[in-house]
Parts: sequence; C-alpha cells; structure tokens
Amino acid sequence: ATPTAVTVGIGRGAELGILVKNGEALEISEKLTTFLFDKTGTLTKGKPEVTNLIGITMDDKYLLELAASVESNSQHPLAKAIVTKAQDNDLNLHEAEEFNTFGGKGVSAMVGRKNVLIGNRTLLNDNGILIQDTEEELISKLEEEGKTAVLVAVDNLLSGILGVADTLKENTPQAISELKKMGLEVVMITGDNKRTAEAIANRIGIDKVMAGVLPEDKSAEVKRLQDKGEVVAFVGDGINDAPALAQADVGIAIGGGTDVAIESGEIVLIKDDLLDAVAGVQLSSKVMGRIK
Ligand code: ADP
Ligand code: MG
Repeated sequence: ATPTAVTVGIGRGAELGILVKNGEALEISEKLTTFLFDKTGTLTKGKPEVTNLIGITMDDKYLLELAASVESNSQHPLAKAIVTKAQDNDLNLHEAEEFNTFGGKGVSAMVGRKNVLIGNRTLLNDNGILIQDTEEELISKLEEEGKTAVLVAVDNLLSGILGVADTLKENTPQAISELKKMGLEVVMITGDNKRTAEAIANRIGIDKVMAGVLPEDKSAEVKRLQDKGEVVAFVGDGINDAPALAQADVGIAIGGGTDVAIESGEIVLIKDDLLDAVAGVQLSSKVMGRIK
C-alpha cells in the first residue's frame, strides 16, 4: 500500500472507533489467518455475577461471608462478583490476613484461625485437597451451564462451591460468524476450565478452545501458532494479555480493558465492540487494495 493509503486507512479507522497505532498493523491485518480471543472481558462482558451458593460444610450465608472476606483483597473479576454478592446481602466481612494470589488458580488467606483457599481444581490439587464424586458432579453441572465453579476450601476441606456466570457481549456471536465467513480460524484462549470454556464457545460458534492456560503461557501459545505458519491476531483486555498482545502479529486491545493491555495493543477497539475487529480486517483489505 502507498503511505497515503495507510494514512487514509488510519483516519477512516479513527472515524469507525478503531484506533490504529501504527500503519504496519493495518498492512498485516489483511494477511491474518487466525484470530485468538481471550474469553473473560473480551468475548464476555467480564462482569461476572454469583448465581449459585452451595454450602457443603457450612451454610450458604457463611460460605459467602468467608469467601468475600478473602476476595475483598483481590482485583480479579471473580473476586469482585463475590464481594458484590456479599454486599448485596448486607453481610459483614471479616479481616483476612496473609493474603496470597496464585495466578490463574486462585487466592488464599487466614480468616481468624481458618485457613481459606478459593479457586479452581488446580489450586485444590496443588494443596492435596480431595474433591468427592458428588462434589465433582455439582461442579460439572455448573460448568456445563457455562459457569465458573469457584471452590472454597477451609482447613484443607472443600467446604462450599460458588457458581459464577458472565454474560456474552451483544455482538460476540455475530463478530465470530463474520470472521469465520472471511475464512479465518477463530480460537478461544482462557485460564478458565475446559468444560466452562467449551460451553461458552458452543454458544458463540467457536469450535477451537485452549482452556486452563496460565496467564504467563498465553504468549507462548501465540508463538506456537506462529511457528506453524499462522499469522495471528490476539484480542484481549487484561493485564494477563499484554505479553500475548505484544507477541501476536497484530495485537488488538479492548478499549475498556486495562491500561497495560491498551498500551500493548497496536489496534484499540475504542467502543469495546468486537464487530470493529471485523471492520478492522476489512479496512486493511481496502488499504491494501484488495477490495475495490
Ligand atoms: P481468564 O483467562 O478467564 O481471565 P485467569 O487466568 O485470570 O482467567 O484465572 C483462571 C482461573 O483461576 C479462574 O477461572 C478461576 O478459576 C481461578 N482464579 C483466578 N483468580 C481467582 C480469584 N481471585 N478467586 C477465585 N478464583 C480465581
Ligand atoms: Mg480477559
């Protein structure tokens, strides 16, 4: 493309709400073969809500109280959902000490004399905490509904399960379908578990899912696709996503995402609308002279 065409393209992008930080991203976009989407906050709104409270060794109210006391120290969207639910129920939170975060797994803290661990199966496995068959059934059921099961262990015993659901962004299914129509491979990548991720992917029309990916491994997955000859766009919103956005051939950040993600992306979707990612690819083809 001529420098003028690129400049015009960047200007046109700006009108559409697509911030193109460098012209090169616009030139490469036309060559993309794969779109890799982060799940939470990118395909979904990233504002999850607690939908289920399942006390096992304690009543539901105390389960929520304990979980929220620990999660009030975390910035994770799941944590915010749990704290909000406790506030909505006017629960009193307790002091949590020795708070710890395990990236992509969960959190822990002492609440009084109770050692509380909150997170996924991996976190419980790492700590040698068993999940009974009946409990596994409850977890699977939530996951098949596309919910994230947040496991709460107290003194090394699984004591309750919270079901947390996130809503899809309005235009997500349409954006995915448009990208597929353009012949692009569409993949979801998430730290969430396989069953939840696949239930959500099904609803959206995504057939390929990379689940249980630790935050630090997302960029390695991008690299792996590139090594296979794919030209990869990564779309993400979180701090976790910054290395993958940088590694991708084109990093596309959600405008409402975290500052670090926005800094790492070469293209920013100002309106948080995934249809603008589609428009970005079309714009690129136009700039490169393939669409008349
Ligand atoms: P995503 O890729 O969906 O943004 P993360 O990598 O942030 O997910 O987290 C992966 C998983 O780790 C979550 O689905 C959850 O099971 C667990 N997890 C992470 N942080 C927390 C937390 N503060 N409380 C409970 N669970 C958590
Ligand atoms: Mg995210």
